Amino acid sequence: MKKVCLMTMTLLFLFACSGNRKDTSRADKFNYNVEQFADLGILRYQVPNWDKLTLNQKKLVYSLSQAALNGRDILFDQNNRYNLAIRRTLEALYENYTGDKTSKDYEQFIVYLKRVWFSNGIHHHYGEEKFLPGFSKDFFTKAVKSLNSAFVPTRKGQSVDAFLAEITPVMFDPEVYAKKVNQDSSLDVIVASANNYYGEDITQKEVENFYNAMKDPKDTSPVPYGLNSRLVKKNGKLVEEVYKIGGLYSPAIEKITYWLNEASKYVENAQQKKVIDLLIEYYKTGDLKKYDEYSIAWVRDTNSLVDFINGFTEVYGDALGIKGSWEALVNFKDIESEHLTKILGDNAQWFEDNAPISPRFKKKEVKGISFKTITAAILGGDCYPATPIGINLPNSNWIRKDVGSKSVTITNITEAYDKAAAGNGFNEEFVCCSKEKNLMKKYGAQTDNLHTDLHECLGHASGQLLPGIGKTSLKVYGSTIEEARADLFALYYISDPKIIELDLLKDPEAYKSEYYKYMMNGLLTQLVRIEFGKDIEESHMRNRSLIARWVLERGQKDKVVELKKEKGKTYVVINDYVKLRDLFGQLLAEVQRITSEGDFTAARNLVEGYGIKVDPVLHKEIKERYDKLGIAPYKGFVNPVYSLEKDANGNITDVKVSYNEGYEEQMLRYSKEYSNLPTYND
Ligand code: ZN
Repeated sequence: MKKVCLMTMTLLFLFACSGNRKDTSRADKFNYNVEQFADLGILRYQVPNWDKLTLNQKKLVYSLSQAALNGRDILFDQNNRYNLAIRRTLEALYENYTGDKTSKDYEQFIVYLKRVWFSNGIHHHYGEEKFLPGFSKDFFTKAVKSLNSAFVPTRKGQSVDAFLAEITPVMFDPEVYAKKVNQDSSLDVIVASANNYYGEDITQKEVENFYNAMKDPKDTSPVPYGLNSRLVKKNGKLVEEVYKIGGLYSPAIEKITYWLNEASKYVENAQQKKVIDLLIEYYKTGDLKKYDEYSIAWVRDTNSLVDFINGFTEVYGDALGIKGSWEALVNFKDIESEHLTKILGDNAQWFEDNAPISPRFKKKEVKGISFKTITAAILGGDCYPATPIGINLPNSNWIRKDVGSKSVTITNITEAYDKAAAGNGFNEEFVCCSKEKNLMKKYGAQTDNLHTDLHECLGHASGQLLPGIGKTSLKVYGSTIEEARADLFALYYISDPKIIELDLLKDPEAYKSEYYKYMMNGLLTQLVRIEFGKDIEESHMRNRSLIARWVLERGQKDKVVELKKEKGKTYVVINDYVKLRDLFGQLLAEVQRITSEGDFTAARNLVEGYGIKVDPVLHKEIKERYDKLGIAPYKGFVNPVYSLEKDANGNITDVKVSYNEGYEEQMLRYSKEYSNLPTYND
């Protein structure tokens, strides 16, 4: 729940990147834009200060990177049981197809394959809906049949015809596996979701009963039940297939642990070694108690330069928020901007004490918030190629409360977004007024980073639940409400005089850039990522719509914010920034109350009332304006390539980083080098 906050997925602005964070002159000739297809843009990120790492640290990053890449197949299989079969079929075609490569069908085949790579499967990575091939079924059938049958990933003893009969509807029939995660609360969300966290014959009721029975209301330190397993029915009985060595996904997990073992040879200190060893132990046993021990050790490892995430972590991929998708990220501290986030951490208690929420819901003592800005070195699993720009872990509420959490923003990724978007015409089209345009140009990147810092470092870490309230009380609305809480905390505070006092911003007007961007995004521009006729699905998007529309409505009488139409174009106009802040504060108080009390009805009313529905007329207008700009609404990244340099005796003398690999090249290489799982894992 505490991850992503894909704020900068929407960072399609023209920024001069004038923040005090960065030396913006660095390598401006670097080619950030790689390619574009469908609704996706592929970017490239740099790894600044790589050469300042010691050889040992470089070897550590290298080993952890291998551990990060070796889990790639896991996520494909988690997202849908046919994803590996489809990916491998498409890749076999890509490499062996001898037919006409100039045809429209072939062109569309390439687009589809690139999308499958991007989404780690056949469903849109953000919208969750299945995307359909732009080529014909006939083309596909003929092409597969033209292959040497050894290249077709059939089941054991299965004919190519039978294989096609099984796989074709999965790809082409819009009704089959229509949505990866279906949050429609009028449906059985387990049956309606196409992910592979549960057996095909399992219902929501069964899942809820199964996991409720595990919970002990008196347990103050519960493990995250069900996080690392697939729940299936065997002989009529529900059993968990645990992801571990010797269990489900064992071949990939064995590779991951091999590289974790390698990494443990190059640790910087004893705490870091403890983290890695506990993670290995957890992968060996699948024991969630070990996972919690690992999480605690990880939170306490604040001194190491190099850090990483590797495991079944976020639960967005499961409509009930139980199962963790596999993800990985290797990073090291961005020393250049460390002092900024340290200021926030040092003042965390002040922010908690002064938040506009009921004292009952405040933490008396904000513990162990560790906050840092990091440089991503490799992205893997659910962080690749689409990646978060901020992460706050662990997700376990009692660990967050008793031990603390670690929160990061990834500055080289943010920088790549900013640089890649420069000059794309977005702000010129959508921002109403020259005052706001100038503020955004001047402060956009800086305030956006600060918003992320506040959201991740303080927002998610703030507040507390009343005794007896569990983190699942808000059910399907939980993620949206949690994101709204963190965003509102950030919005409320970014305009606080304390920010100027702490020297986080210099200009007292700068915050207006973030307020404007937020309202414009929540009310208008995020709609570009929704298909016509569809609702808003993703939690972060729902949260932004919820906040923006709620304050628009509440401020209507005083005309705090308005939607104005000029020459057929709708713009957001903010008339009163002070009152806008006050409204953010009011909503924060309410969202915190809902969270602390577990008020399901109020959560449902907020999310259903403001977070989901789209005005079709406005939607059409915004999309048409956006389409004219030719910008891809979603972005992802190719990773850099690390290569070992060795001396005559085979000793590693250096690890070099390079940025020359293309998107297709990288995906095909990963599919060869890290193809660790069988095609069928059930
Ligand atoms: Zn968040």
